[in-house]
Amino acid sequence: MLVGVLALQGGFAAHARMLRALGAEVREVRVPADLEGLDGLVLPGGESTTMTLGIEREGLAEPLRVLIGAGTPVFGTCAGLIMLDRAHLGLMDIESRRNAFGRQVRSFEADLDFPDLDGPPMRAVFIRAPWIASHGPGVEILAEVDGHAVAARQESRLVVSFHPELGDDVRLHARFLDDVRARAEG
Ligand code: GLN
Repeated sequence: MLVGVLALQGGFAAHARMLRALGAEVREVRVPADLEGLDGLVLPGGESTTMTLGIEREGLAEPLRVLIGAGTPVFGTCAGLIMLDRAHLGLMDIESRRNAFGRQVRSFEADLDFPDLDGPPMRAVFIRAPWIASHGPGVEILAEVDGHAVAARQESRLVVSFHPELGDDVRLHARFLDDVRARAEG
């Protein structure tokens, strides 16, 4: 399984480490040619304006739309969630609100119950996180904080507004790799 991690900016190294620990082969993605042959892709957290500029500068928007639009599993976290929304790459039917919990003060942790993860709730680290302010009918909301959607799935696209690559709970990455494996073998 070859999984790409968008590495223009932000928290890509911790994602790569976690994916490798779970047995995936990882490639850092910086230019369109790096997308060749990927079975899955992670869009990490970071700063969404900077990431958008990087995607434009490198000519990555259209190749990303083609790859993800074809059904290649993608996992977007925090700024990566923002990248997939209607106002950015337009690959998920969600409207995200940046820094929705407040700019600096509201970096916090919360225990989240995911309907399809075995075991205890997931301890989630939120850093100037967005939330999903609205979504279309094809989107399933997986977790909320104070009534605000912070995790969602739409077909092969999984997004969370927190940082699952920090800490040692690998369940969401493992779940993502299950999707990648299923599609690669299917
Ligand atoms: N606040 C950042 C943004 O809007 C996202 C934060 C993150 O990725 N940790 O771009």
